[in-house]
Amino acid sequence: MSMAEKPHIAILPSPGMGHLIPLIEFAKALLALHHGFGVTCIVPTIGYPSEAMKAVLEGLPTNIDHVFLPPVSPKDLEKAHPGIQISLTITLSLPSLRDVLKSLLETTRLTALVFDPFGSDVLEVAKELQLSPYFFIPTNAMVLSLLLHLPTLDETIPCEYRDLPEPLKLPGCIPIHGRDLINPVQDRKSEWYKLFLRNAKRLPLAEGIMVNTFIDLEGRVIKALEEDEAGYPPIYPVGPIIQSGSGTDDEDDRSGCLRWLDNQPGGSVLFVSFGSGGTLSSDQINELALGLESSGQKFLWVVRSPNNESANAAYLKNQSHDDPLAFLPQGFLARTKGQGLVVPSWAPQAQILSHASTGGFLTHCGWNSTLESIMINGTPLIAWPLYAEQRMNAILLAEDLKVALRPKADEKGLVGREEIAKVVQGLMVGEEGKSVLKRMKELRIAGEKAKSADGSSTRALSKLASKLAFQPRSF
Ligand code: UDP
Repeated sequence: MSMAEKPHIAILPSPGMGHLIPLIEFAKALLALHHGFGVTCIVPTIGYPSEAMKAVLEGLPTNIDHVFLPPVSPKDLEKAHPGIQISLTITLSLPSLRDVLKSLLETTRLTALVFDPFGSDVLEVAKELQLSPYFFIPTNAMVLSLLLHLPTLDETIPCEYRDLPEPLKLPGCIPIHGRDLINPVQDRKSEWYKLFLRNAKRLPLAEGIMVNTFIDLEGRVIKALEEDEAGYPPIYPVGPIIQSGSGTDDEDDRSGCLRWLDNQPGGSVLFVSFGSGGTLSSDQINELALGLESSGQKFLWVVRSPNNESANAAYLKNQSHDDPLAFLPQGFLARTKGQGLVVPSWAPQAQILSHASTGGFLTHCGWNSTLESIMINGTPLIAWPLYAEQRMNAILLAEDLKVALRPKADEKGLVGREEIAKVVQGLMVGEEGKSVLKRMKELRIAGEKAKSADGSSTRALSKLASKLAFQPRSF
């Protein structure tokens, strides 16, 4: 089949590794099932693309092209609230996106455009160029449910959601307090909330919504959404979609952590990482360091420089400017030499999770990290949510699925060293750790089943692939 006859889809990840990785992996999964597609990944960037981003894109298989859009200048974003910067990057990239799509239309049978809800302004371009729009939700069905119900909640609830006396009962979901909902809905007067609501209202305009979850993980929520009388677009639970790894261990192991893991006993190490951009306050770094030390358990900690104002300070940058190790308590590195390894800013997470020495994961509960933990090796979790939808994920993991332990913060929001040591020991050597591990292993098997030839996610993906293959150009 020539380029012009092959059905072609464009995927547009929002800035941030947590958006790029799953969307690319989704495209790979689609191509594995249906070889006849062409795919172009159109990448908006802020300033220069990060090294991590370049590594992912350079490792793409030959059947996925990628095009960088001209970078948006960080200056054009600096006045915007950090939560708005991702959407604003997409909005500012629309003219160049339009040009790239037009040139693809000249050479390929481009019919569909897949993007995530942050980029809902892309709908206008899709409409103008008669491309079918699909949303890819890089997180779970509980968050999708919140997004789809948000317009109604907005009309019917007069107060801030965080002030609601009772937990919110989204159909099929574990009840959740307003204060634990995704960050942008925490202040309804903010511009961020208004933008989030506008993006949420546009979800039903898609021809389909893909969500990175699977039936055995969130069957009740998916069923409730499918049966909702509002009549949403078809929902495709296509997960668990996780990164399939890029370079070799040698390339990835600049920090030496894989070599370090090679010398540790099986299942003995707690991996500690807060995703691609999570940061802690200096007090919290101090408590975490001392808690890990006094737990007596082995640890591998990806440390970022502290940020006392915002928990996602490094999200769009991935790297901290200062030397993060300089912020650790005095003498900590020397005292924990035989017990732990600390690496600055970034580590090859997928390889770490697949290593036999890794026995637990203290995570910020980003959805990619969560699915990687389940699928790579069924690693049990300590849930330490920071921002975005991570508190929702932590509740799902700790209270509903029971695959995570959750440390308690004090009234100032600080998790103290004793609490940390207790939970770390509980996970790594305690009875509660054993039951969490058992549930995690069961979930992993269920995830594998969902992705098997006749599994629920493979069926959802094939349904979608057939629809995309025969998609006429109309909107
Ligand atoms: N990641 C990594 N090394 C790091 C930090 C993150 O490889 O040091 C990867 C991680 O494996 C995951 C993604 O970056 O695939 C982070 O996505 P997630 O949704 O967990 O969190 P986010 O960074 O979006 O908050």
